[in-house]
Amino acid sequence: MFEHLQNKISKALHILKGHNTITEINIASSLKEIGRALIDADVNHKIVRNFIQKVQETSIGKKVLTSLNPKQLITKIVYDELVFLMGEKNIGINLSKNPSIILICGLQGSGKTSFSSKLALFLMKKNKSPLLVSVDIHRPAAVDQLKLIAKKVNIPVFSLEKSKNVIEIVDQSILYAFKKKKNVIIIDTAGRLAIDRIMMKEIQKINQYSNPDEVLFVVDAMTGQDAINTAQSFSKVLNFDGIVITKLDGDCRGGVAITISSVIKKPIKFISNGEKIEDLEVFYPERIANRILGMGDIVSLVEKVQEQFDETKTKKIYQKISKNRFNFNDLLDQIQQIKKIGNIKNIISMIPGINKYFSFDGNQKNSFKKIEAIIHSMTPYERNNPKILLDVRRKKRISKGSGITLSHIDLFMKQFYDMNQIMKKIHAHSGKETIKNFIY
Ligand code: GDP
Repeated sequence: MFEHLQNKISKALHILKGHNTITEINIASSLKEIGRALIDADVNHKIVRNFIQKVQETSIGKKVLTSLNPKQLITKIVYDELVFLMGEKNIGINLSKNPSIILICGLQGSGKTSFSSKLALFLMKKNKSPLLVSVDIHRPAAVDQLKLIAKKVNIPVFSLEKSKNVIEIVDQSILYAFKKKKNVIIIDTAGRLAIDRIMMKEIQKINQYSNPDEVLFVVDAMTGQDAINTAQSFSKVLNFDGIVITKLDGDCRGGVAITISSVIKKPIKFISNGEKIEDLEVFYPERIANRILGMGDIVSLVEKVQEQFDETKTKKIYQKISKNRFNFNDLLDQIQQIKKIGNIKNIISMIPGINKYFSFDGNQKNSFKKIEAIIHSMTPYERNNPKILLDVRRKKRISKGSGITLSHIDLFMKQFYDMNQIMKKIHAHSGKETIKNFIY
């Protein structure tokens, strides 16, 4: 996810390395490259132009007001702009009623059925009791597909296979949910195009009758700008509450995730990045911006680990993050837990330093080994007190011990500190609630 974009932005920012002051000339070449990277990632031209202009104006305005070097300053401004573009904050789904109803809609093949089951599993892990409902009366195989996926994780599916009346199915499913004490109903609908009047009338009817607490529109990231156009046309006929982007693991360029929210004026609520039922993430603009800028995303990493492992341990880690006390021992521990999970491709970019500096070439084991070698070469005191590693003599000793070059050690450390700074910044902005919100 976002690997190409991340690499290109990293190269663009590298242009500023070694410059002590910001000038219109040095930032212009770096920004030009950032603009290219965004266009290559399939971000719309107009948005890229505005984005670059805003970063340029802010950076020139700030040049005398800050002690940051140009690269750090531009990174921070680009980070802020990316977060802004992606909608600033995560907006959670509304689950206040009993049962709450979530209506899933979108084009055929966009990933609605897969997402519905992923969402059901996600909610089950949050101690909800979901019921999946299929109201696809046009494609009989759709019910079987939903049942097949849901069966693997023991989530009940309601359907009336003989009925061709969507309202009857919704009606009966609500009664069933009450009877079985299900507190969330997820309605998976047939794929439809906004121009198909009959099909759009049908979804309006379902919407009206079920009065959902949440309507989610699913788009396939692989379709690029088309995904945005589709969402736009759909929103004119059915006012949905949020967007789900699927297939972000594929060969797509990621632009949809960066742009769709600002174009459609609706929040992205979830992203899906794989075919497995666990491959779902809550969308947090700050965390994605961190990943795009190659800073890692420790909070999401910890959450992934939490899904599989010990909750008490994870709570302690959250406390450390919120107090800005996350240290190298904690990073090592998270890496070791992640290694046990197996499918780590999607979470690689959450680990600070791993993509850029350890030439992630598809061999995660090697990348992990290098970071582990660095941390193992630290003394216990150093591992617990990352700040003392600003001392160059210590870094030289670690370099010798681990066999990793001093410049790579520097880069890894820098990313670790940057990541901590960002976490501190996010915490300072939203106070005590931050980590709770992160947990979702
Ligand atoms: P629907 O027609 O909208 O219900 O779409 P499906 O849920 O049936 O998905 C269509 C295809 O996309 C299936 O082969 C899914 O396995 C696949 N798919 C769905 N979400 C993802 C994803 O996040 N990543 C990948 N790689 N494939 C996905």
